[in-house]
Formats: sequence, structure tokens, C-alpha cells
Amino acid sequence: MNTSKNSLETYNKKRDFEKSPEPKGEEGKGKDNVFVIQKHDATNLHYDFRLEVNGVLKSWAVPKGPSTDTKVKRLAIRTEDHPFSYKDFEGIIPEGHYGAGEVIIWDCGEYENISQKDGEAISMEEALEKGHISVNIKGEKLQGGYHFVRTSKGKNEQWLLIKAKDDQADGRRNPTSTEPQSVLSGKTIEDLKKEEKRKKVEE
Ligand code: MN
Repeated sequence: MNTSKNSLETYNKKRDFEKSPEPKGEEGKGKDNVFVIQKHDATNLHYDFRLEVNGVLKSWAVPKGPSTDTKVKRLAIRTEDHPFSYKDFEGIIPEGHYGAGEVIIWDCGEYENISQKDGEAISMEEALEKGHISVNIKGEKLQGGYHFVRTSKGKNEQWLLIKAKDDQADGRRNPTSTEPQSVLSGKTIEDLKKEEKRKKVEE
């Protein structure tokens, strides 16, 4: 994974900001407590789960999205750090560009790091290094504990995303299918597609 000083280098290299409406990767900062899950209909539909750490968004692409069932383990592929401002991005990445497709803010809110090592609290950096992160999230759709557990290192690190056993766990809920809309605009991926089609017809 990119651990260089400017962790947004990879992000910036992959994108042409003249052509894509995505924010340029500049240092921005929150309180290191923001999480966002963006639903992204790129080549393959996936959910980008991002956690703010030191002013950047540590990111994982989760093909099936997060589950509220503690028995379900979801593959989460680590992707490049994204700028803090990406948390507000919803829109369409144009054809021919990296990640082309529709993006909506599927869920967002604050998170608390509850990662531990040998019973002691550890920082998010330490948890990332260790390959086991535990967070408590307060979103609109998702709440409570989630674990990220690394299963393979290397260029495309693989992790598993697992709901923690707590009061917010619910094996009967299936929010990725029952609540497909953006928490920002109320729009679905399909709404964005329709808008785009209409625009093309008008042009
Ligand atoms: Mn994505």
C-alpha cells in the first residue's frame, strides 16, 4: 500500500481533473472521525467504505456492500487514499475516465476508533498496520461496530468487513437492497443514469 508522505499522489495520478467532476487531491482536514460509504456503479458495482485518518480517507471497495448480519463476511479490497473532500462527492465520473460511472453517498456520519491490541486501545495507524481495525459508526443506515480484518497483504490488500455483535446487528435487515438511495440527495444510481440520458438527449 502507498505509505509515502503524500498519500494522495496515487489518487491524483489516476485522474484528469479537467474532465472529471471529482475533487482534486489536496490536504484537507476534519476531526479524524468522518466515515462515508459511496455506492459506485463503475465497471463493477461496489460500495467504497472510507474512514478519515490524518485528514485523508482510507478506502476499501466492498463489492457486495456492508451487511448488518454478524455471520456475513464481506470482501473489502483496499484502494488508494482519497482526499477528505471526497466525502461530499456525488455525481458522474465521465466515460473513458478512471472509475467512470455514477457515485452516490449511500451512508455517512461519524466514527469512533475502538481498535485494540492486547486489550489496549491503539491508534487507527497502528490498527491499519496490524491489519485489524474496529470502529463504531453512527450513520443514517448503519450503526454500531464493524471490524476490518486483513487477509492478504500486497498491492491489492484484501480485507474482510464484518458486523460486530452488538444491539445494532440485525440478520433480517438488508439495507443495500431495501435502502438504495443517497442520504444526501435521496437519489438512486438509476436516477443519476436517467438524468444523464435526458441531458444527452437535450445536447
Ligand atoms: Mn469506487
